[in-house]
Amino acid sequence: MENKRMVMIPGPTPVVKSIQDQMGREVQAFGDPRFVADYKEVIHDLRTIVNCSGQVFCVAGTGTLAMEMAISNSTKRGDRVLLISHGFFGDRFIEICQNKERDLDVLKAEWGKIIPVSEIEEKLSTKKYAAVVVSHVDTATGVKAPIEEIGELMKKYPDTLYIVDGVAATMGEYTDFDGMNIDILFTASQKAFGVSPGLLMLWASKKAMDRREALGTISEYYCDFNKWLPIMLDPSKYFATPAVNLIWALKESIRIIKEEGPGARYERHLKNASAMQKALEALGFGLLAEAGHRAVTLSNIIYPEGINDADFRSTLMEEGIIVAGGLAAYAGKMFRIGHMGNIDINDEVAVLGVIERTLYKTAGIEKLGVGVAVYMKEMMK
Ligand SMILES: *Cc1c(COP(=O)(O)O)cnc(C)c1O
Repeated sequence: MENKRMVMIPGPTPVVKSIQDQMGREVQAFGDPRFVADYKEVIHDLRTIVNCSGQVFCVAGTGTLAMEMAISNSTKRGDRVLLISHGFFGDRFIEICQNKERDLDVLKAEWGKIIPVSEIEEKLSTKKYAAVVVSHVDTATGVKAPIEEIGELMKKYPDTLYIVDGVAATMGEYTDFDGMNIDILFTASQKAFGVSPGLLMLWASKKAMDRREALGTISEYYCDFNKWLPIMLDPSKYFATPAVNLIWALKESIRIIKEEGPGARYERHLKNASAMQKALEALGFGLLAEAGHRAVTLSNIIYPEGINDADFRSTLMEEGIIVAGGLAAYAGKMFRIGHMGNIDINDEVAVLGVIERTLYKTAGIEKLGVGVAVYMKEMMK
């Protein structure tokens, strides 16, 4: 019998049965009062779970569209943008900004490290920026940016918008939209919300909405805030067809989040990540992200000597888990594992067991039970 394959990449994350069931429902018309009420509830709850007093947009698309939406609705051609990049996904903004002819400055961190807030401060004090952009967690490096501290700093720059890519973070990492002074935050359904791919969620402060007003007409159509705003205020209206079943799936995901509580959800991710990371270190792996700046939503794991990446990951797959490979300079040297969303302690024990069997099978490293024991002891604390 073949082993089940658990999807442990950093998105899509595992989708629990009650969320899957929503996607199997018979579709309703988007104007059906029952669906309109559901959509309205989702829009309302999305704001409360991240503590956003501004506007939320929930639109069919992926995280990359949300990146484009954030830049397009907050800046115009020629505007100066400061990008703080902690890896591949941060770097994706370079092309987005260049294609849109923004005047871009980039602070690029060495992979695994953060850009110190003092360096950001120095940059902000020399020039005037329309927006500062940072990824909360960069999925390529497993680095978590100090978004709270950057948010504090942004208070000194009331004319600059603070944009946070929360795609691999929001609903796993601690997030307080208003409290962290964020102007635009976004994520996608397939990451820590634990829904299948296909929806983006974007939150905008009043300051961001005022900026959108000041821009006038923009060249983007589908991702224009102004096109979606009437629908967000009254979901019985039409602009483009909502992804009905995904909205239901998101509603169920939000129900799970509210039941657990966003704060408790973060604490669970924190405890789990710390235990996972200790277990992986006990198995001889390294972690790319420096201590103190590690994400709770995923780990970027460096192989010990003598492991062949392709063999290792294909054996992991046969044994039952799918992980992602390293990117750029870390291709072949690292694998990436997601541990965000609706996963539990039993899932993680299985994951560590698979990793231990794979170490044994591919490299003769006999550490069976070692990582599992460390993990369980940490989790019982
Ligand atoms: C996954 C991811 C994206 C891209 O999202 P897609 O849904 O794949 O378009 C952007 N930023 C970060 C930090 C991500 O993890």
